[in-house]
Amino acid sequence: MLLTTYSTYPYLKNILMIKIPVEVSARHVHLTQHDLEVLFGEDFVLPKAKELSQTGEFASTEVVALVGAKNKIENVRVLGPCRTFTQIEVSRTDCFFLGNQAPLRLSGKVIRSGAIKIIGPKGELDLTEGLIVAKRHLHVNPDEARDLGVLNNQNIKILVDGPRQTIFGEVEVRVNENFNMNVHLDTDEANAAGVVGDTYCEIIK
Ligand SMILES: [Zn+2]
Repeated sequence: MLLTTYSTYPYLKNILMIKIPVEVSARHVHLTQHDLEVLFGEDFVLPKAKELSQTGEFASTEVVALVGAKNKIENVRVLGPCRTFTQIEVSRTDCFFLGNQAPLRLSGKVIRSGAIKIIGPKGELDLTEGLIVAKRHLHVNPDEARDLGVLNNQNIKILVDGPRQTIFGEVEVRVNENFNMNVHLDTDEANAAGVVGDTYCEIIK
């Protein structure tokens, strides 16, 4: 069921909008099965802690440490299931703290991304690429995309209302059968817009 509301955007008053849930992605790691075994031991199976909003994706019980040129960040959550590439998603603030550079990328685009060292309980990985700052995006399935009037790979503008009301441009639409309608922001973006608790946004056309 789609939640609808009247737009809070001044020029769109009295227009019925679809409310899109906003989720905040904290820093996290996706691993290949090979890299998982390097960090956690041979034949390690990632234990599931919590299902995430996108079908099949889960937060595991496991964490690793990220070691940068300047600092280390402990307790970075490993998400599952394993992927065909290892990818570490951090905020720009994390990059400054770590002392490492990372490009702004959509998930999956890790070629020639940033370098980072990962430490697990059974081993370490010295990666020459894999570190990214995730580009903000909207997950939708094809039906939701039609209802919202958006297309795959389109960049849209969203309004996050509240005391720190913010309009975000360059929100990339990602359409997939397995997706559920959610905007994903990183912690820097969410903090700037004052996102706390259950937050919804609307698309500005
Ligand atoms: Zn996402």
